[in-house]
Amino acid sequence: MQLKLDTAPWQSATKAVDGDGRHQAVGYWHETVQVAPGAPLSDKIQCDVAIVGGGFTGLSTAYHLKRQKPDLDVALIEAGVVGHGASGRNGGFVMPLLGWDLLYAVDKLGDKTARAAYRVMYDAVAHVKRMALEHNLDCDLEATGYLLLNTCGAREKRARREYGAAHRLGFDHQWLERDALAAYIRSDRFSSGVFDPHPCVINPAKLSRAMKQLVESLGVKVYEQTPLRALKDEKPALLHAGEGEIRAHQVMLAVNGYGEALGFMKSRVMPVHTFIVLTEPLTVKQLDSVGWSEKRASLESARNFIHYFRLTADNRILFGGEDAKLYFQGRYFDRDESVFEALKSRFREYFPLLKDVAFTHEWGGVLGVSLDMFPSFGATGKYGNLFYAGGYSGHGVALSNYAGALLAPMMLRAAGETHIPEFPDAPFFVGHRPAWLGFEPLRYMGVQAYRGLLHIQDIIEGA
Ligand SMILES: Cc1cc2nc3c(=O)[nH]c(=O)nc-3n(C[C@H](O)[C@H](O)[C@H](O)COP(=O)(O)OP(=O)(O)OC[C@H]3O[C@@H](n4cnc5c(N)ncnc54)[C@H](O)[C@@H]3O)c2cc1C
Repeated sequence: MQLKLDTAPWQSATKAVDGDGRHQAVGYWHETVQVAPGAPLSDKIQCDVAIVGGGFTGLSTAYHLKRQKPDLDVALIEAGVVGHGASGRNGGFVMPLLGWDLLYAVDKLGDKTARAAYRVMYDAVAHVKRMALEHNLDCDLEATGYLLLNTCGAREKRARREYGAAHRLGFDHQWLERDALAAYIRSDRFSSGVFDPHPCVINPAKLSRAMKQLVESLGVKVYEQTPLRALKDEKPALLHAGEGEIRAHQVMLAVNGYGEALGFMKSRVMPVHTFIVLTEPLTVKQLDSVGWSEKRASLESARNFIHYFRLTADNRILFGGEDAKLYFQGRYFDRDESVFEALKSRFREYFPLLKDVAFTHEWGGVLGVSLDMFPSFGATGKYGNLFYAGGYSGHGVALSNYAGALLAPMMLRAAGETHIPEFPDAPFFVGHRPAWLGFEPLRYMGVQAYRGLLHIQDIIEGA
């Protein structure tokens, strides 16, 4: 396998670093961290493992490799700065979702496989909490739980079936009728909900930067402003990175939604975008008016094109979703004015009492989506030494932070460290290969048609 970077998709996105060497924030979270962009790679270096991508997947892999084998020589290269991609700009929901939802996973995989995979997802959520505590990671973690809100009869019916499946599988979800909902959130639009007490929320930019510091403290060399330009599948692998070159015995491709531009998982893991609007900080009185000041649960509306909404540490409302977009020829964008407008009008529909609240920030980003919505982990290449994890399909915060726990044992054992125990009960998505969606323009047209159908279903159901 050879990879070569196509820079065209990147041209419509904000560069991580401006001409004066300053980090360019995309959205609110980036403004909450101080980023001094690190120096790019300019030499020829050798290492045991080269990690491509400074998001949660890459950082987690670096962390677990060094924890399990402290003398391993690990280099991480990042095209922009650590956390400039999805990991530093997401909604911050740390949740166990896999696929569309639990019911979908059960339908596709059967109870046994779905239960095992969801157990891993709950472990991933617990792992984020444990890491924050163990390493004192400054990331505004808040154990809010997660409440899925039903917006119409059809969705409520599905949610009831899902609730039944969750209990059969041993998960402790709680069904809330309209009266009980009022303790969490008040809006005429929501008729009932399902509460999962385990998820939490974080500030994603803070977590990304804290993880960078942590892996550097373990001895990982991090090169920012260093895009992988080309990879040759040799033994060891040859990476042309930034102005330098790396020879690495193993490579971890942690690029998720950005893989296409490298020719990796092209048309299998697609660069789909989701967008967010953010309000000014709300007063306690304003939050009280919608019943949100006490429990502070993170919320999602049950529909094909979900809305996800939560409070930030300074009491702003982050409101995202409404649409999900794949742009022609896989281009990357940080903004989409039509989605921002639709989000704001939906916000006012859900919360008419907050109609005068001002919006201060708008942004979006690229995530990796596969046709079946399941992630993929594994090894590839002529020598089986090119590893990958991605395709989390909108729910990657927990699993990407746990990716290294699954991958590090696999990588170390492949490198001959047979005393390292395998990850127990590897979930089905290890070795899973997503379906191929075809060439442009057919892929684009197909995805647009599918997107249209999902929107029509939401409209017909009144969701
Ligand atoms: C707006 C938004 C909201 C989201 N909200 C949530 C949420 O609330 N909860 C949830 O679970 N999930 C959410 N997600 C998804 C989640 O953020 C991702 O699944 C997760 O962060 C993926 O992490 P990653 O490390 O695999 O990818 P990324 O964070 O995208 O990291 C990949 C990195 O690779 C770098 N890169 C790409 N190409 C190259 C190259 N050629 N050379 C070097 N580096 C390269 C990129 O710059 C990037 O930093 C959201 C995503 C977005 C965009």
